[in-house]
Amino acid sequence: MNDRASVSISAAAAADPDKGACRRLSILGATGSVGQSTLDLIYRDPAAYDVVALTARTNVDDLAAAAIRTRAACAVIADESLYGALKERLAGTGVEALAGSAGLVEAAGRPADIVVAAIIGFAGLRPTLAAVDQGATIALANKECLVAAGDLFIARAARSGARILPVDSEHNAIFQAIGGNVDSSIAEILLTASGGPFRTRSYEEMKSVTPAEALKHPNWSMGAKITIDSATLMNKGLELIEAAYLFPVGMEKLGAIVHPQSIVHGLVRYVDGSVLAQLGPADMRAPLSYCLNWPRRTRTPCDRLDLAALGSLTFEPVDRQRFPAFGLALAAMASGGAMPVVLNAANEIAVESFLKEKLGFTKIADLVAEVLDRAESENLSQAPASIGDVLEIDAWARACSKPLVNKL
Ligand code: NAD
Ligand code: MG
Repeated sequence: MNDRASVSISAAAAADPDKGACRRLSILGATGSVGQSTLDLIYRDPAAYDVVALTARTNVDDLAAAAIRTRAACAVIADESLYGALKERLAGTGVEALAGSAGLVEAAGRPADIVVAAIIGFAGLRPTLAAVDQGATIALANKECLVAAGDLFIARAARSGARILPVDSEHNAIFQAIGGNVDSSIAEILLTASGGPFRTRSYEEMKSVTPAEALKHPNWSMGAKITIDSATLMNKGLELIEAAYLFPVGMEKLGAIVHPQSIVHGLVRYVDGSVLAQLGPADMRAPLSYCLNWPRRTRTPCDRLDLAALGSLTFEPVDRQRFPAFGLALAAMASGGAMPVVLNAANEIAVESFLKEKLGFTKIADLVAEVLDRAESENLSQAPASIGDVLEIDAWARACSKPLVNKL
């Protein structure tokens, strides 16, 4: 994993001469939280982007409106049954309508300079790989791609020459601090975690929290799935797996620390004791702008940090007793093989079930733990050798998770 990943990041660090004012850009998951933040940046600087493709799962109205406003070449609706509705909305606009998983993959593979990978979850894997295979710069928000298929993903990027620029704010912070310089002078990479809405609740109290309470993130406005992952701290576990591929310094040097203000996003400690940190507002337009303009910087509409008004920045350790999902992710990462694929799939089913009020909040981690146990007893520890293997393991873990929702 390490050699290939460093190849990819070093390629990212080798500054590309300015490609010119206008970049061809696609957004996979244009109607989501990250997608909307990206569109906001494009609307503010339309001459800088030539939009190739925008995609969404079911939101025809927002997709069509964004495609028309950005004069995108094509718009893709993943839910095939909505193709007619999209085609109708785009009639006479010059925007081509596509649909289904084949449409997603086709559009993601259309030549672009930058593809923002912002589909949520495992569903983003195949379209993002299509973007990787065409050699585009990938502004990667979809962490589940790396969790489920990190080795294969990084190897494909190395093969096609695709650069991977991390959008996830913590990884973006580390990338800002070290660029592509992943070397032995790094003693530790620390990702910060807000601690979520239940940072100070007891485990007992968390047993009865509702989706509405869990969706109230203290600092960030994000899609539902990642907001729940932030409340269980599974998100931080997934992010450590993501970091292992993006910054291959060795797992023992990767860690997380709770920082309730979400101002410091990531820290790098060097062997000489120096620590470099990146600070910024909790606004995804900041890391997105960094990726879209890299290696340059441009103005963003983000609020300026007012440290004097903030007064204090605090830090505390992650409480693994109250937030067992974090430890499950670390264990899956340490086991390697198919375990991260299983972890991710079981978590997606558990979160979806919690959001539908079919599973209690603390049962999310219980379900994931049970599916990981079963995977171990089924000897699923061998690493997937192909994307086909990843899809198979993912399907197995989902099938295993679903009956557990009722049981738990
Ligand atoms: P979201 O739920 O707000 O949006 C998801 C997007 O993906 C939507 O456009 C939706 O239409 C599309 N989509 C959903 N299911 C799909 C499917 N089956 N097929 C095709 N398209 C589908 O999600 P988000 O919060 O924007 O997160 C997107 C990704 O970015 C996630 O992987 C998340 O972990 C990561 N991320 C998000 C944030 C954030 O601030 N929201 C921060 C860091 C990382
Ligand atoms: Mg993050």
